Amino acid sequence: MENRLRLFYSLQIVDSNLDELQEMKGDLPQIVAELSETVKNKLARKKELEDILKKSIVSRDQADVDIITLKEKIEKYKTQQFQVKTNKQYDTLAREIDLAQEKITKLQKDMESLEGKAANSKEDVEKLAPEIETLQSDLSDRKKELAAVNKEHEDEELKLQHQREKIAARISKADYQMYDRIRKAKDGRAIVAVQRKSCGGCFNRVTPQRVLELRKNAAIITCERCGRILVSDEVVESAIKSL
Ligand SMILES: [Zn+2]
Repeated sequence: MENRLRLFYSLQIVDSNLDELQEMKGDLPQIVAELSETVKNKLARKKELEDILKKSIVSRDQADVDIITLKEKIEKYKTQQFQVKTNKQYDTLAREIDLAQEKITKLQKDMESLEGKAANSKEDVEKLAPEIETLQSDLSDRKKELAAVNKEHEDEELKLQHQREKIAARISKADYQMYDRIRKAKDGRAIVAVQRKSCGGCFNRVTPQRVLELRKNAAIITCERCGRILVSDEVVESAIKSL
Protein backbone atom coordinates (compact mmCIF):
# COMPACT_ATOMS: atom_id res chain seq x y z
CA MET A 1 0.00 0.00 0.00
CA GLU A 2 2.81 2.37 0.77
CA ASN A 3 4.05 1.84 -2.75
CA ARG A 4 0.62 2.72 -4.15
CA LEU A 5 0.47 5.89 -2.06
CA ARG A 6 4.04 6.77 -2.97
CA LEU A 7 3.28 6.44 -6.68
CA PHE A 8 0.22 8.63 -6.21
CA TYR A 9 2.23 11.30 -4.50
CA SER A 10 5.11 11.07 -7.04
CA LEU A 11 2.63 11.60 -9.83
CA GLN A 12 1.21 14.57 -7.97
CA ILE A 13 4.65 16.17 -7.62
CA VAL A 14 5.41 15.74 -11.31
CA ASP A 15 1.99 17.03 -12.34
CA SER A 16 2.30 20.04 -10.05
CA ASN A 17 5.64 20.86 -11.67
CA LEU A 18 4.12 20.50 -15.11
CA ASP A 19 1.25 22.76 -14.04
CA GLU A 20 3.76 25.33 -12.90
CA LEU A 21 5.43 25.22 -16.31
CA GLN A 22 2.07 25.70 -18.00
CA GLU A 23 1.38 28.64 -15.73
CA MET A 24 4.63 30.25 -16.82
CA LYS A 25 3.38 30.12 -20.39
CA GLY A 26 0.38 32.05 -19.12
CA ASP A 27 -2.48 32.64 -21.53
CA LEU A 28 -0.22 32.29 -24.56
CA PRO A 29 -1.26 28.78 -25.65
CA GLN A 30 -4.92 29.72 -25.37
CA ILE A 31 -4.41 33.04 -27.14
CA VAL A 32 -2.63 31.27 -30.01
CA ALA A 33 -5.38 28.67 -30.26
CA GLU A 34 -8.14 31.29 -30.25
CA LEU A 35 -6.38 33.53 -32.76
CA SER A 36 -5.80 30.57 -35.09
CA GLU A 37 -9.49 29.74 -34.92
CA THR A 38 -10.51 33.35 -35.61
CA VAL A 39 -8.16 33.61 -38.60
CA LYS A 40 -9.48 30.31 -39.96
CA ASN A 41 -13.09 31.46 -39.67
CA LYS A 42 -12.41 34.86 -41.23
CA LEU A 43 -10.57 33.24 -44.15
CA ALA A 44 -13.50 30.90 -44.69
CA ARG A 45 -15.92 33.86 -44.62
CA LYS A 46 -13.73 35.75 -47.12
CA LYS A 47 -13.69 32.76 -49.44
CA GLU A 48 -17.47 32.50 -49.16
CA LEU A 49 -17.89 36.19 -50.04
CA GLU A 50 -15.51 35.88 -52.98
CA ASP A 51 -17.56 32.95 -54.28
CA ILE A 52 -20.77 34.98 -53.96
CA LEU A 53 -19.09 37.85 -55.81
CA LYS A 54 -17.91 35.58 -58.62
CA LYS A 55 -21.27 33.83 -58.99
CA SER A 56 -23.19 37.12 -58.92
CA ILE A 57 -21.09 38.51 -61.75
CA VAL A 58 -21.47 35.36 -63.83
CA SER A 59 -25.27 35.41 -63.33
CA ARG A 60 -25.44 39.12 -64.10
CA ASP A 61 -23.50 38.62 -67.35
CA GLN A 62 -25.79 35.74 -68.27
CA ALA A 63 -28.85 37.95 -67.66
CA ASP A 64 -27.28 40.59 -69.86
CA VAL A 65 -26.82 38.09 -72.70
CA ASP A 66 -30.41 36.82 -72.23
CA ILE A 67 -31.76 40.37 -72.48
CA ILE A 68 -29.90 40.95 -75.77
CA THR A 69 -31.31 37.70 -77.16
CA LEU A 70 -34.83 38.67 -76.11
CA LYS A 71 -34.49 42.12 -77.65
CA GLU A 72 -33.41 40.53 -80.92
CA LYS A 73 -36.46 38.27 -80.76
CA ILE A 74 -38.74 41.25 -80.22
CA GLU A 75 -37.23 42.95 -83.27
CA LYS A 76 -37.84 39.80 -85.27
CA TYR A 77 -41.50 39.55 -84.07
CA LYS A 78 -42.05 43.20 -84.96
CA THR A 79 -40.76 42.61 -88.48
CA GLN A 80 -43.00 39.54 -88.77
CA GLN A 81 -46.02 41.61 -87.68
CA PHE A 82 -45.70 43.57 -90.94
CA GLN A 83 -45.78 40.39 -92.93
CA VAL A 84 -48.71 38.49 -91.31
CA LYS A 85 -51.99 38.12 -93.08
CA THR A 86 -54.52 37.68 -90.28
CA ASN A 87 -55.33 39.56 -87.10
CA LYS A 88 -54.94 36.35 -85.17
CA GLN A 89 -51.38 35.94 -86.36
CA TYR A 90 -50.72 39.55 -85.51
CA ASP A 91 -52.11 39.13 -81.98
CA THR A 92 -50.08 35.99 -81.40
CA LEU A 93 -46.93 37.92 -82.23
CA ALA A 94 -48.05 40.81 -80.03
CA ARG A 95 -48.44 38.35 -77.12
CA GLU A 96 -44.95 36.97 -77.80
CA ILE A 97 -43.58 40.51 -77.73
CA ASP A 98 -45.30 41.24 -74.39
CA LEU A 99 -44.01 38.01 -72.95
CA ALA A 100 -40.44 38.78 -74.04
CA GLN A 101 -40.76 42.30 -72.66
CA GLU A 102 -41.93 40.92 -69.31
CA LYS A 103 -38.95 38.60 -69.25
CA ILE A 104 -36.63 41.51 -69.98
CA THR A 105 -38.11 43.55 -67.14
CA LYS A 106 -37.63 40.66 -64.74
CA LEU A 107 -34.06 40.08 -65.94
CA GLN A 108 -33.26 43.76 -65.53
CA LYS A 109 -34.47 43.59 -61.95
CA ASP A 110 -32.38 40.46 -61.41
CA MET A 111 -29.34 42.24 -62.80
CA GLU A 112 -29.83 45.12 -60.43
CA SER A 113 -30.06 42.86 -57.39
CA LEU A 114 -27.09 40.77 -58.57
CA GLU A 115 -25.04 43.92 -59.01
CA GLY A 116 -26.03 45.00 -55.48
CA LYS A 117 -25.07 41.61 -54.14
CA ALA A 118 -21.72 41.72 -55.92
CA ALA A 119 -21.00 45.24 -54.68
CA ASN A 120 -21.84 44.29 -51.07
CA SER A 121 -19.67 41.19 -51.22
CA LYS A 122 -16.82 43.17 -52.71
CA GLU A 123 -17.11 45.77 -49.98
CA ASP A 124 -17.15 43.09 -47.27
CA VAL A 125 -14.12 41.36 -48.78
CA GLU A 126 -12.27 44.66 -48.85
CA LYS A 127 -13.10 45.25 -45.20
CA LEU A 128 -12.16 41.72 -44.21
CA ALA A 129 -8.81 41.56 -46.00
CA PRO A 130 -6.88 44.10 -43.84
CA GLU A 131 -8.58 42.71 -40.73
CA ILE A 132 -7.27 39.23 -41.58
CA GLU A 133 -3.84 40.63 -42.31
CA THR A 134 -3.66 42.25 -38.86
CA LEU A 135 -4.87 39.08 -37.17
CA GLN A 136 -2.36 36.97 -39.06
CA SER A 137 0.53 39.19 -38.10
CA ASP A 138 -0.66 39.17 -34.47
CA LEU A 139 -0.92 35.38 -34.59
CA SER A 140 2.55 35.04 -36.05
CA ASP A 141 3.98 37.24 -33.23
CA ARG A 142 2.20 35.23 -30.56
CA LYS A 143 3.36 31.97 -32.09
CA LYS A 144 6.94 33.19 -31.97
CA GLU A 145 6.51 34.23 -28.34
CA LEU A 146 5.07 30.85 -27.44
CA ALA A 147 7.82 29.03 -29.31
CA ALA A 148 10.41 31.02 -27.35
CA VAL A 149 8.76 30.18 -24.01
CA ASN A 150 8.42 26.53 -25.04
CA LYS A 151 12.06 26.35 -26.04
CA GLU A 152 13.13 27.84 -22.73
CA HIS A 153 11.41 25.08 -20.75
CA GLU A 154 11.63 22.34 -23.35
CA ASP A 155 14.20 20.20 -21.56
CA GLU A 156 12.51 20.40 -18.21
CA GLU A 157 9.12 19.68 -19.68
CA LEU A 158 10.42 16.66 -21.55
CA LYS A 159 12.09 15.35 -18.41
CA LEU A 160 8.88 15.75 -16.42
CA GLN A 161 6.76 14.15 -19.11
CA HIS A 162 9.14 11.22 -19.21
CA GLN A 163 8.94 10.88 -15.43
CA ARG A 164 5.19 11.12 -15.59
CA GLU A 165 4.91 8.34 -18.14
CA LYS A 166 7.06 6.05 -16.06
CA ILE A 167 5.01 6.63 -12.92
CA ALA A 168 1.64 6.50 -14.66
CA ALA A 169 2.56 3.14 -16.21
CA ARG A 170 2.87 1.68 -12.73
CA ILE A 171 -0.49 2.94 -11.50
CA SER A 172 -3.59 0.83 -12.06
CA LYS A 173 -6.22 2.17 -14.41
CA ALA A 174 -8.78 2.53 -11.61
CA ASP A 175 -6.33 4.40 -9.39
CA TYR A 176 -5.33 6.64 -12.25
CA GLN A 177 -8.95 7.46 -13.00
CA MET A 178 -9.59 8.27 -9.34
CA TYR A 179 -6.51 10.48 -9.26
CA ASP A 180 -7.49 12.21 -12.47
CA ARG A 181 -11.05 12.79 -11.28
CA ILE A 182 -10.01 14.37 -7.97
CA ARG A 183 -7.26 16.38 -9.64
CA LYS A 184 -9.65 17.87 -12.16
CA ALA A 185 -12.20 18.70 -9.49
CA LYS A 186 -9.70 20.03 -6.97
CA ASP A 187 -7.57 22.59 -8.72
CA GLY A 188 -4.93 20.13 -9.85
CA ARG A 189 -4.18 18.75 -6.41
CA ALA A 190 -5.52 15.28 -5.78
CA ILE A 191 -2.96 14.03 -3.24
CA VAL A 192 -1.94 16.20 -0.33
CA ALA A 193 0.19 15.81 2.75
CA VAL A 194 -1.22 16.23 6.22
CA GLN A 195 0.33 19.32 7.72
CA ARG A 196 -0.09 20.15 11.39
CA LYS A 197 -2.88 17.61 11.60
CA SER A 198 -4.78 19.40 8.83
CA CYS A 199 -5.53 18.59 5.20
CA GLY A 200 -2.85 20.18 3.02
CA GLY A 201 -5.51 21.03 0.45
CA CYS A 202 -8.39 22.61 2.37
CA PHE A 203 -6.79 22.92 5.84
CA ASN A 204 -9.66 21.10 7.43
CA ARG A 205 -8.66 19.44 10.69
CA VAL A 206 -7.96 15.73 10.42
CA THR A 207 -9.18 13.75 13.44
CA PRO A 208 -6.49 12.12 15.60
CA GLN A 209 -7.90 8.73 14.75
CA ARG A 210 -7.53 9.35 11.03
CA VAL A 211 -4.02 10.69 11.54
CA LEU A 212 -3.22 7.44 13.30
CA GLU A 213 -4.73 5.44 10.44
CA LEU A 214 -2.84 7.53 7.94
CA ARG A 215 0.50 6.90 9.52
CA LYS A 216 0.04 3.20 8.91
CA ASN A 217 0.16 3.95 5.19
CA ALA A 218 -2.17 1.03 4.78
CA ALA A 219 -5.25 2.48 3.15
CA ILE A 220 -6.47 5.27 0.94
CA ILE A 221 -7.71 7.94 3.30
CA THR A 222 -9.46 10.99 1.95
CA CYS A 223 -10.13 14.36 3.51
CA GLU A 224 -13.64 14.44 4.91
CA ARG A 225 -14.25 17.92 3.62
CA CYS A 226 -12.53 18.22 0.22
CA GLY A 227 -12.17 14.58 -0.81
CA ARG A 228 -8.46 14.79 -1.61
CA ILE A 229 -6.32 11.77 -0.81
CA LEU A 230 -4.23 12.35 2.30
CA VAL A 231 -0.73 10.95 2.73
CA SER A 232 1.69 10.86 5.62
CA ASP A 233 5.05 12.65 5.79
CA GLU A 234 6.69 9.30 5.35
CA VAL A 235 5.00 8.81 1.98
CA VAL A 236 5.89 12.36 0.98
CA GLU A 237 9.55 11.83 1.79
CA SER A 238 9.84 8.51 -0.02
CA ALA A 239 8.04 9.95 -3.06
CA ILE A 240 10.48 12.87 -3.23
CA LYS A 241 13.40 10.46 -2.85
CA SER A 242 12.09 8.21 -5.59
CA LEU A 243 12.04 10.99 -8.18
ZN1 LIG B 1 -9.23 18.68 2.51
